[in-house]
Amino acid sequence: MSNFVLIPAAGSGSRMGSELPKQYLPLLGKPLIHHTLSVFESHPAIDHIYVVLSPDDVHWQADGSEKVTVLRCGGTTRAETVLNGLNAIADAVEEHDWVLVHDAARPCLSCELLDRLLHEVTSDAVGGLLAVPVADTLKRAGPDGRVDHTEPRAGLWRAQTPQMFPHCLLRKALQASGIEAPTDEAQAIEFLGHAPRLVLGDGHNLKVTYPEDLAMAALILGGGGESK
Ligand code: C5P
Repeated sequence: MSNFVLIPAAGSGSRMGSELPKQYLPLLGKPLIHHTLSVFESHPAIDHIYVVLSPDDVHWQADGSEKVTVLRCGGTTRAETVLNGLNAIADAVEEHDWVLVHDAARPCLSCELLDRLLHEVTSDAVGGLLAVPVADTLKRAGPDGRVDHTEPRAGLWRAQTPQMFPHCLLRKALQASGIEAPTDEAQAIEFLGHAPRLVLGDGHNLKVTYPEDLAMAALILGGGGESK
């Protein structure tokens, strides 16, 4: 079975407060998304990478890798972008091939974590995702902005990406769940009654969401905090 990567990159990243979508912000001298792609480009177990852009994206710059194909069929939600991408590649993949969906804005995924995910999920009947046990105490806010109560954190994990599922199962799950409901691929699979496998990730695999995350990503990638 082959391993394909699908990168939904059609978001506007409004929480960054920047004109440029966050996947294109400069990080150590190149667009953030080029860092995201590089771990998959250099990994021998990854057969091909599909990047799903918004149809009117004017910022994409190819990085020259023959392993990357761009699809201009992004949707209005992440789930719609992923489903459109799965539909677009349906003729190029076998139905039981693995698809690893990875956020464009997670540039610090290490080769070791990718190896761990591939190793633990390849033999799984459902699929799985990288995730990290919750370390902080969780507070439920009341309407007045004060603590209503403390949530028990035992057994809670923060979902990361990649999330790795067979093409046919993920496509069916996203078709069934509608484009609004799931906030990640695993949730769509859960809606079908399956239990995705949790694979231990780490905090370095952060998603760049707020401006301060960019400096942290630069530190992790070894640039000493420089983002430009
Ligand atoms: O906004 P958020 O950080 O949750 O986005 C996660 C990923 O989903 C990003 O890679 C973003 O580009 C992508 N996305 C997308 N299409 C959308 C919304 C988000 O591809 N309509």
